[in-house]
Order: sequence, then structure tokens, then C-alpha cells
Amino acid sequence: DTAMLEAKRKKAGVVLFDQNLESRVAAEARLRREIDEAVDQGDFCVHFQPIVDTTTLQVLGLEALARWEDNGTLRAPADWLTYAEDSGLIVSIGNMTFRQAFAATERFDLPVAVNISARQFAEPSFLEDITDAWGERAWEMLTIEITESALLHDSLQTASILEQLREKGARIALDDFGTGYNSLARLASLPIDILKIDQSFVRDILTVPGHAVLQAVVALATAHGLEVVAEGVERVDELEALVALGVTKAQGNMLGRPAAAVPLR
Ligand code: C2E
Ligand code: MG
Ligand code: MG
Ligand code: MG
Repeated sequence: DTAMLEAKRKKAGVVLFDQNLESRVAAEARLRREIDEAVDQGDFCVHFQPIVDTTTLQVLGLEALARWEDNGTLRAPADWLTYAEDSGLIVSIGNMTFRQAFAATERFDLPVAVNISARQFAEPSFLEDITDAWGERAWEMLTIEITESALLHDSLQTASILEQLREKGARIALDDFGTGYNSLARLASLPIDILKIDQSFVRDILTVPGHAVLQAVVALATAHGLEVVAEGVERVDELEALVALGVTKAQGNMLGRPAAAVPLR
């Protein structure tokens, strides 16, 4: 009868759920071990994506993007970043990223942008580590990219580090603008120099409401003296719309995909 069927189904469901959970937990544990090993073996590297002038297409700088070389497969941060942050391994990966970013800025004589997680700001040796890695190079050649959640994570500690970096001459970019809790009204009070417009926002530029929103964002950012960089530009019509809005810098697959630049070891 139905009551018994129902009970059976429930039981089966519970078993199925438990198995799924168990295999997911096991898979995550394996991934954590693999990331740990990969860090030990130096299997992380950095790819660089150009930041270009939207009208001349001249390369103005490079963004460093970490990659895991997993037995011939390049794995992007979506696969491993959360685990690297949770386990603290992002600190080692971040130091490697910094050294390779430094090598790239020397080799190409271009400014370089490096992404930093909240977990890295929390590390007591953070400032010392990056100062060691950056050496004597002009700090004006360095941009630190952070998301707003990182900015809010431990605001006092983070704000103090950002302030010290800015005093050296480094610049701070707010990454992925348009995806988080970012509010236009708060832009003026954040310790930032650059606003990076997220690709989801760029995607909307071809619609009437999307265009109007972006126009307001660009106007406000400019009024606050912020530089604007558009991310994830994939189409000529997106690029043209950005130029029309006065956005002078952009990144995206149509402008240059991330690629290896510096010998790995
Ligand atoms: P992000 O800093 O916003 O970087 C932009 C992401 O968009 C990169 O993904 C890039 O490969 C991708 N992208 C660039 N152009 C296009 C485009 O035209 N279309 C599309 N669909 N995507 C495009 P990636 O390399 O997978 O990095 C993802 C995120 O991981 C980064 O987002 C950044 O937040 C984080 N990340 C990367 N490297 C590091 C690192 O060394 N340390 C830390 N803490 N985070 C990192
Ligand atoms: Mg970034
Ligand atoms: Mg971004
Ligand atoms: Mg992103």
C-alpha cells in the first residue's frame, strides 16, 4: 500500500543521500590532499591576461591568474580555490603567484595585477612575504585585486595592509564589481583606486537597462577618481559600447586570453 511504498522510498532516499554525501566528502578529502601535494611539488603556475586600452588595443598591463598543472591538465581556480583558501594553502600558492608576477613585470616591463584572497590578508607575514617577493621594483607597477567580501572580511586588518601598500605606491582594485554586496554609495569610502566591472555586468551592456546601469556606475566611479576596467569582454559590440561609455581599459577573451608567459621553474 501507499504508506509502505512511501516508507520504502524514504529509506532508499536516505541511503542514496548518505552515499552521495560520503562520496562527496571522500572526493573533497582527496582533492585537498592533491592540492597539498601539488603545492609541495611546485605544480602551480601563473598565466597572464593582458589589460588593454579599449581604443588603441595597446597592452597596458597584465593580470596574474594561478593555474594548477594537474598531470597535463591546466585547472583553473574554480576547481580548487575554495579548498586552497580553507586549508590555508592559498598562502603558498599566493607567494608563488607573486614571484611569477614579479618575474613577468621585469621581463615585459609592464604593470602587473595580482588577486589576493581574504585568507592571505589574515596571514601575519602577508606584507613581509610580498615585500620580499617584490624586491626593489617600483610599487607603482603593482595592483592588488580584492573582492568586496575580502574587503569586509576583517576590515581593520585588511584596511591597514591596503593603506600600507598604497603608501608604498601600489594600487588597489575592487574586483568583480557588480556581483557582491557592492553598493554604489559606498564606493567613495573604500580604500581603492580601480574598479573592475564584472563580466556579468559587461554582458548586460547591450540591453537598455544594463547600459543605463553601467553608465551610472562609470559616471560615479569617474567622479570619485577611480579608474574603470571592464572584465570578460568577448564581443566587438561590447567593446564598442564600453568605448561609448568612456571605459578606457578592458580585459577579455577577444582582447587576449590568459597565457603562460614566464618559464615555470
Ligand atoms: P578574476 O580576478 O575576476 O579573473 C577573471 C577571470 O575571468 C579569470 O578566470 C579569467 O580567465 C576569466 N576571463 C577572462 N576573460 C574572459 C572572457 O572574455 N570570458 C570569460 N568567460 N572569462 C574570462 P580564472 O583565471 O579562472 O580565475 C578565476 C578567479 O580566481 C579570479 O577571478 C580570481 O578571483 C581568482 N584567482 C585567480 N588567480 C588567483 C591567485 O593567484 N590568487 C587568488 N587569491 N585568487 C586568484
Ligand atoms: Mg582579478
Ligand atoms: Mg574579476
Ligand atoms: Mg571573477
